[in-house]
Amino acid sequence: MSDWLSSVWFGSLLIPTAYFVAALVLILGLRAMSSPVTARKGIVLAGLAMGLAILVTFLHPQVGGNYLLMIVAILTSGILAWVSAKRVAMTDMPQMIALYNGMGGGSAAAIAAVELLRAAHGHDVGLLTNSIAGVGALIGTIAFSGSLIAFAKLQGWMRKVWRFPGQQYLNLLLFALTVICGVLVVIGYQHDAISLNMLLLAFFVLALIVGFAMTVPIGGADMPVVISLYNALTGLAVGFEGYVLDIPAMMIAGVVVGAAGTLLTQLMAKAMNRPLTNVLFSGFGTGDDGGPADAGGGSMQAIEAVDGAILMAYAENVIIVPGYGMAVAQAQHRIWELTQVLQKRGVRVRFAIHPVAGRMPGHMNVLLAEAGVPYDLIEDLEDINEQFSQADVALVIGANDVVNPAARDDSSSPIYGMPILNVDHASNVVIIKRGRGTGFAGIENRLFTGDNSRMLFGDAQKMAQELVAGVKTL
Ligand code: NDP
Repeated sequence: MSDWLSSVWFGSLLIPTAYFVAALVLILGLRAMSSPVTARKGIVLAGLAMGLAILVTFLHPQVGGNYLLMIVAILTSGILAWVSAKRVAMTDMPQMIALYNGMGGGSAAAIAAVELLRAAHGHDVGLLTNSIAGVGALIGTIAFSGSLIAFAKLQGWMRKVWRFPGQQYLNLLLFALTVICGVLVVIGYQHDAISLNMLLLAFFVLALIVGFAMTVPIGGADMPVVISLYNALTGLAVGFEGYVLDIPAMMIAGVVVGAAGTLLTQLMAKAMNRPLTNVLFSGFGTGDDGGPADAGGGSMQAIEAVDGAILMAYAENVIIVPGYGMAVAQAQHRIWELTQVLQKRGVRVRFAIHPVAGRMPGHMNVLLAEAGVPYDLIEDLEDINEQFSQADVALVIGANDVVNPAARDDSSSPIYGMPILNVDHASNVVIIKRGRGTGFAGIENRLFTGDNSRMLFGDAQKMAQELVAGVKTL
């Protein structure tokens, strides 16, 4: 009786309730992450939810005494993740996300492999469950190998972009072959010449190749969008495997991550004004996208930091536009210092953030928050764009594409149609960059040769420091 009671208590009450609470807290955590004000709380909540789900899994009857294996796996991955996350630089965050995301896809695929193997060896799981395991295996494996390629590209380990005529047809053929193998595995096709084990192996190898082949032709520059897409796929794969294992928390978490990844992918593609198909199949940023746009003639006019400081110190309204170069130089602390010295002189300073400034969504918000910039000084593109015409100075620090007027006015430009920050409407524009390097899209920017533009050449951190020193002497 007591055994019966305890199994009912654990099996039907405690475990499902704890999983439900974990799923609920995870959703609340994800919701809190949508605003920089509550993002930290969101991460803690999501972490707690994951912790609870892991803890409860130890009590799950299906675990069958494999505690040692579980503890070794959790400790190994936990320590590796802790150390790498502590060490990673903010600018390397996209590749870390790619790697971790790949691991998620790989784990979902590994679960699916076990379930498909069990079914192949006579364990009756039903056609629906087996099909779902197969779909999860396919997308999990593609997300795994694709994410590893994305990681290698962002890390600079794979610079070459392999593109050749008919490549997309070859990829389509590979994908069709993978699906055929998968279907044969799922229906338990038996033939003297080919065993189910061999079919299963072929299915996984082909799926790995598909992920590889899909990602290799995409330029490193588009990788963040691709990672976000793979993140959505990983979420879905985990959700499918949650169904197969009959763990509702895994199902809910997977579907929520899948939906969040899909929305993020759409958001990034929209902010670049490019359909997802263009990101996946156009070879943008690989040299096949029409080449550099016209710089518009004219020459750049340089300015010294001390003169830039005078312009800003005697202004009423200054808008700072950070970009990828600020992240590379880690100049956010100096920029916040500059803001404070200007504020002390009565200058109104605000930050304008483009949705795809930097190399990942929210990149600039995270850096500015890290430096202590209050959220009420930070404005989104839609809110601040009209106000550049009233700004005395727009300070562009390491941004290029997101302030390129060609996106607004030049229909032949590869970035035409991408919404930009209208910094050229300000009375004066001071641009900090090291030299004449192009931005992520590899195209010229005629903002730099505009009559109201002045180039402050140098490393973003060093120049920001010189501006602070300059303002302090006035
Ligand atoms: P860009 O990459 O267009 O330009 C960065 C500029 O920073 C360069 O022109 C470079 O010029 C300068 N720079 C680099 N290092 C330094 C340094 N140490 N000090 C000073 N300047 C430096 O950046 P943006 O932020 O304007 O645009 C982001 C681009 O990334 C967009 O095209 C966007 O579509 C793309 N993208 C963004 C994603 C996201 O989610 N945020 C995802 C995928 C793509 P120089 O070499 O002369 O110094």
